[in-house]
Amino acid sequence: MAPVETKEYDYIVIGGGSGGSGSARRAAGWYGAKTLIVESGRAGGTCVNVGCVPKKMTWNFASINENLHAGRHYGYDIPHDVKIDYTHFKRIRDATIERLNGSYERNWNKEGIDLVHGRARFVEPKTIEVTLNDGSGKARYTAKHILIATGGHPIVPDVPGAEHGITSDGFFELEELPRKWAVVGAGYIAVELAGVLAAVGVETHMFIRGDTFLRKFDPMIQETMTQRYEAVGIHIHKGHKGFKEIQLLRDGKGADKLLKLIGKDGDELEVNELLWAVGRAPAVEDLGLDVAGVKQTHTGHIIVDEYQNTSVDGIYALGDVTGQVELTPVAIAAGRQLGSRLFGPPELKSSKLSYENIPTVVFAHPEVGTVGLTEPQARQKYGDDKVKVYQTRFTSMFYDPFPAEEKKKNPTQMKIVCAGPEEKVVGLHILGLGVGEMLQGFGVAVKMGATKQDFDSCVAIHPTSAEELVTMR
Ligand SMILES: Cc1cc2nc3c(=O)[nH]c(=O)nc-3n(C[C@H](O)[C@H](O)[C@H](O)COP(=O)(O)OP(=O)(O)OC[C@H]3O[C@@H](n4cnc5c(N)ncnc54)[C@H](O)[C@@H]3O)c2cc1C
Repeated sequence: MAPVETKEYDYIVIGGGSGGSGSARRAAGWYGAKTLIVESGRAGGTCVNVGCVPKKMTWNFASINENLHAGRHYGYDIPHDVKIDYTHFKRIRDATIERLNGSYERNWNKEGIDLVHGRARFVEPKTIEVTLNDGSGKARYTAKHILIATGGHPIVPDVPGAEHGITSDGFFELEELPRKWAVVGAGYIAVELAGVLAAVGVETHMFIRGDTFLRKFDPMIQETMTQRYEAVGIHIHKGHKGFKEIQLLRDGKGADKLLKLIGKDGDELEVNELLWAVGRAPAVEDLGLDVAGVKQTHTGHIIVDEYQNTSVDGIYALGDVTGQVELTPVAIAAGRQLGSRLFGPPELKSSKLSYENIPTVVFAHPEVGTVGLTEPQARQKYGDDKVKVYQTRFTSMFYDPFPAEEKKKNPTQMKIVCAGPEEKVVGLHILGLGVGEMLQGFGVAVKMGATKQDFDSCVAIHPTSAEELVTMR
């Protein structure tokens, strides 16, 4: 048998998602490194195909229904039986994703990056073998620098019949809306996906282990958002002990599918769909990390230092596969910094991403924005006597035409967590209409080390909800 030819590159990137693409483009596009991306799925990874992009589009879709409701309070004669064509919406969403897949590949091509569609695994410490997607066999590549940016995948719990449910990947394949569904999980993906379908009238049941969801967020957010979801009719099954079995009573699409959820406590619920949103695991299973000698944590995430170096010289990892902050802009930024560090000019040889004060938004209903420390984190870090908290709760002017009962269900809430005598803002937590767009600018201020006095010295923009952040007493 002829020996397999091994092609050489300066930089091999395994995974063409947010982080891999960001890093490859920096290395090749800015610094001319001879770069290869190996991608086993669709260009753009999780964010483009089964994450941020389709999720935000679905959030927009659902928000329109909320605005139709608001329109009636404002005097628009909008019928109550407006039909929703989810199949049509899914087609449009799929087309947007396809356009993005194409634009990722075109950008790589423009920047001289080679792309191989296939699944990579290490066969030697610095050599990968790719099983090509087109079935034409295998190819081998080597490089001085290899980046692992393979992301993650949703976890399906070990429950008999769990396979009858879906994960967030399957959520974006749904062509019809269920009439009644269950969401298991308390993280941001569970909250976002439960919120979108509830906002278009799907009877929604959430199963959570504790009393509140979004447990990593400030208590204000956990409590108000859980109450808000309950107030709009989402059934939250708190203190849930898990499921004994999931039975498929009827196969089908949308309302035709029927599942029976049997809880460990014996409770039963029939639903048309079940979403497991119980966490994500790193995509490392068939990478041959042991061959390369790359060390992992007990959860399988790749261990990296602050420069994204793994335990093996010349092999790097970033993004979700490392279990660091699992967000697209984080993976992109880490990837760019690494590209600059490896291939950029000498002054960039220490480039690295600062993981401090990363702003993030939960596209719930309403949105949640957060940056920096929660109040308990700040108290633990600085001590109770060094922390001062400013907070406010009000109803946005947008809801003025709503009846009082409904106004109560739509709070806007803000918290500024300050530390030290200079009252440096170390945490900012906001929820309400439009906070997703509001947070980015405040994120800059917090990153720059703004104090409460800096916030107060900025003249308010009136009338907005955001003005409360610079006028809080
Ligand atoms: C439902 C959902 C909603 C989200 N919403 C947001 C949001 O609103 N905002 C936000 O910032 N983040 C969001 N995220 C998180 C975001 O999508 C991820 O943090 C981000 O995509 C991580 O980028 P990555 O480069 O680490 O991995 P990925 O984007 O997952 O890319 C990894 C790529 O590697 C490929 N791959 C894996 N193994 C191999 C192999 N052996 N060989 C070749 N290729 C391989 C995969 O096919 C994939 O394309 C969301 C995630 C989900 C699931």
